[in-house]
Amino acid sequence: MIVNAVYLTYTIYMTQAEKQKTADFLDLALDFYTCGYRGEKREYDFEDDAPSAKKSVDSADKHESIEKIAEEIRACYNCQLGKTRTNAAPGEGALQPLVMVIGEGPGADEDAQGRPFVGKAGQLLDKMLASINLSRNTNCFIANVVKCRPPNNRDPYPEETSACAHFLERQITLLKPKFILIAGRIAMQTLLKTTVAIGKMRGKITELTVGGASYPLLITYHPAALLRNEDLKRPAWEDLKLLRSKLEELNGGS
Ligand code: SF4
Repeated sequence: MIVNAVYLTYTIYMTQAEKQKTADFLDLALDFYTCGYRGEKREYDFEDDAPSAKKSVDSADKHESIEKIAEEIRACYNCQLGKTRTNAAPGEGALQPLVMVIGEGPGADEDAQGRPFVGKAGQLLDKMLASINLSRNTNCFIANVVKCRPPNNRDPYPEETSACAHFLERQITLLKPKFILIAGRIAMQTLLKTTVAIGKMRGKITELTVGGASYPLLITYHPAALLRNEDLKRPAWEDLKLLRSKLEELNGGS
């Protein structure tokens, strides 16, 4: 009710485009609220344990190393996506992350800004992460399996994911996340080298081995898929709750 009153007051002075943007934002926020994301009590807080992004930046070696990979990515033309990109999006976030989120590849907004998950789907991802006390500003690192935008948002070709794979492997090896969250079919099929449908793989804890180290892994739907299909929001929320419970276990909680 309060939200509606504020919305109605402000919309009097808004252009049509601004009204649409605000309505879209409120729609997303309310969706997550009504799914229980904000309604459930948070019984833990990882932020005390997770080194903040600011603290992590003080770790000169790691910062340089992740930056070095990012510089290599920005200068890379090892596959055809390098020719059509505006900006590569190497990845961003905390340098000692609790969770590393891995998606498919940059879209138009990401290509324009050189940052991962910054469009509408990215805003939804941020809300999803925030609902379980995760954030790219404090305890998450966000990256993609390909760092340059496939034209017209097509799926990346196998030769492109394979040309780009060493960057992601080096990022995982350096960051050593406590948990990996795969967002979407393409990232899942690329990293797990499978053709199984995501509906059969999501919602289960499995493992990913990179550079001889194993990382616990959970697969969920890509936020862009949630924007296209309302029915996927509930299972995605179940996945987030499972991730939250696993993080609580890692944190020594119940
Ligand atoms: S997608 Fe990866 S391999 Fe291809 S040009 Fe971009 S950074 Fe290089």
